[in-house]
Amino acid sequence: MKKSRRDFIKLSALGAAAVPLNVFSKNEFDLILSPKNKPIVLSTWNFGLKANEAAWEVLKNNGRALDAVEAGVKVPEGDPMQRTVGLGGRPDRDGRVTLDACIMDELSNIGSVASLEYISHPISVARAVMEKTPHVMLVGDGALQFALSQGFKKESFMNEQTKNEWKEWLKKNDYKPVVNIENHDTIGMIAMDSAGNLSGACTTSGMAYKMHGRVGDSPIIGAGLYVDNEIGAATATGHGEEVIRIAGSHLVVELMRHGNSPKDACKLAVERIMKLQLLRNKNLKDIQVGFIALNKKGEYGAYCLQSGFNYAVNDNTGNKMVDSDYSLK
Ligand code: ASP
Repeated sequence: MKKSRRDFIKLSALGAAAVPLNVFSKNEFDLILSPKNKPIVLSTWNFGLKANEAAWEVLKNNGRALDAVEAGVKVPEGDPMQRTVGLGGRPDRDGRVTLDACIMDELSNIGSVASLEYISHPISVARAVMEKTPHVMLVGDGALQFALSQGFKKESFMNEQTKNEWKEWLKKNDYKPVVNIENHDTIGMIAMDSAGNLSGACTTSGMAYKMHGRVGDSPIIGAGLYVDNEIGAATATGHGEEVIRIAGSHLVVELMRHGNSPKDACKLAVERIMKLQLLRNKNLKDIQVGFIALNKKGEYGAYCLQSGFNYAVNDNTGNKMVDSDYSLK
């Protein structure tokens, strides 16, 4: 139902006393007050389906998007069978499993950890950084010391299979992240709750056999994840170096701010990466990047460079996998 101008002024006066009237157009204000498809949660790759289920438990009970995305990504983080996130993650070339994660809420509170070892739920450490420290990012040993001080327990990672695979890899010692083969793959999750608020989380073990200390896009706010509660949210997967190069998730949100649909915003960001790759005389076939995005109306979309990227969406119609459209056809 369309709101009359008088309703708009009434709402402005009541609901947003602190917001100057000229900040939003009437249409924007309507969207902020009444997104159509909520709650909703989206996450990257096949493991997104199970992760969405956990997030949906929170969302369907009118919980906060922030709690939903944390609960959601904790599912693959805690699953030793997932070889690219959390507990089951593959190591770097020195045989150390180092994890990256970040989280962002509807008030632009942010928290992040990078190169964190021994802790199976880096997303919860990132949330603790956000809520319990004056900082936004902790790395390496500092992140570990902080996690331990918060009661997180050290766990042993590298099981026999992981160790054997790593030893096999050492024989050739050839570092070339393989496109769409599950030796990286991040879970990025973005959600809107029934109050219409957005949050996001992103967590990964990064590129298998990376240099020790390498950090990808996933724990970097604006690269692997970005949320603007007036506009929408986006998250990324794929070759983190390329996503960082264009501040990818922030770019996707800005492109939505300028009127692009979530899918078009993701496509424009992917095309920018492609352009830079060509400019730098690199082969497009050597990289994969994918974005998913959600706007304030509950519309969503994705785009990636090469075929093979998919994502999971859970809304009031159910939980399903969607294949992303892509550029290199
Ligand atoms: N973006 C992750 C990284 O660069 C990996 C991935 O999502 O495939 O660490």
